[in-house]
Amino acid sequence: MPGPTVKRVPFESPTHDVMGGDARRDVKVHDHGLVALVDVMPRMIPEGRTADAAIVQAARVSYGQGTKRLNEDRGLIRYLLRHRHTTPFEMVEFKFHVVMPIFVARQWIRHRTANVNEYSARYSVVPDRFYTPTAESVRGQSATNRQGGDEAVDAGTAKEFLEYLDRCQGQYREYEKLLEKGVSRELARIGLPVNVYTEWYWKCDLHNLLHFLSLRMDSHAQAEIRDYADAMFALIEPIVPLTCEAFRDYRLEGAHLTRLEIESLRAGKPLATDNKREQAEWDAKRARLGL
Ligand SMILES: Cc1cc2nc3c(=O)[nH]c(=O)nc-3n(C[C@H](O)[C@H](O)[C@H](O)COP(=O)(O)OP(=O)(O)OC[C@H]3O[C@@H](n4cnc5c(N)ncnc54)[C@H](O)[C@@H]3O)c2cc1C
Repeated sequence: MPGPTVKRVPFESPTHDVMGGDARRDVKVHDHGLVALVDVMPRMIPEGRTADAAIVQAARVSYGQGTKRLNEDRGLIRYLLRHRHTTPFEMVEFKFHVVMPIFVARQWIRHRTANVNEYSARYSVVPDRFYTPTAESVRGQSATNRQGGDEAVDAGTAKEFLEYLDRCQGQYREYEKLLEKGVSRELARIGLPVNVYTEWYWKCDLHNLLHFLSLRMDSHAQAEIRDYADAMFALIEPIVPLTCEAFRDYRLEGAHLTRLEIESLRAGKPLATDNKREQAEWDAKRARLGL
């Protein structure tokens, strides 16, 4: 029995590569870190358009004739993002090669909707690369955010911290010695500190990537992972500029109001809460709104 017949449908207009013919695009992060964009879907798109076109194409299937009123790419993308019609954004995918310290990878891996393949320290020797912040960026514990750090510590304390890191990194020599003595790589590695670098390929669709970026570009995220998120945003912005613009406008730099906040604004009264943290968050929002 003959197999199914495949009909080839060429693009109607000339196309271009959304990565401009590049094999990869790299952004260096910190001392040894890297975020590289290695592939995008869609890769080839009609001349004069961006990969945002794949979002619009999928959305038009669901809206059909209804999109006649929303038939401009930018307007449609902004509408979709504002109204959390998210699945069209899943039609675009990005594949990254990332080199980051293990403590950053631990936070990153909590994002479950990506496909990941990581360097195996059971199979290969861990390279001698450790993340060391500059003396000026050794942060003190924040007084307002229990999870965070803010102001730089004094020079003496920063020096002490860097010496402590140096001693931890000294474990690498022990690691090498134990490998030479025949200890397995899978066991020898467990004495290395979490500022040692690992690397992985990480593939994610745009909807889930925006979710990742909204959490990890946020000021509440640890500065180190924020630097990686900023690098990713810089890499995707030229590929999906319309989506990135809408993301900035409606999510990244937008604000959400709770029912209590709306009532406080409407009635011109204090926020109806005795929760100090909620009050502080409202004060911060009011300041942002210039109230
Ligand atoms: C500032 C900050 C501080 C944090 N502090 C801590 C901490 O102290 N301790 C800690 O353990 N974690 C902490 N986290 C991690 C956080 O709780 C989330 O695990 C992480 O941000 C991933 O979010 P997510 O689950 O929404 O993302 P993803 O895993 O990317 O999932 C995306 C979305 O898919 C859906 N989804 C995915 N998997 C499932 C599932 N199995 N069931 C239902 N829905 C699913 C959800 O809607 C989810 O929002 C912190 C994160 C941030 C940003």
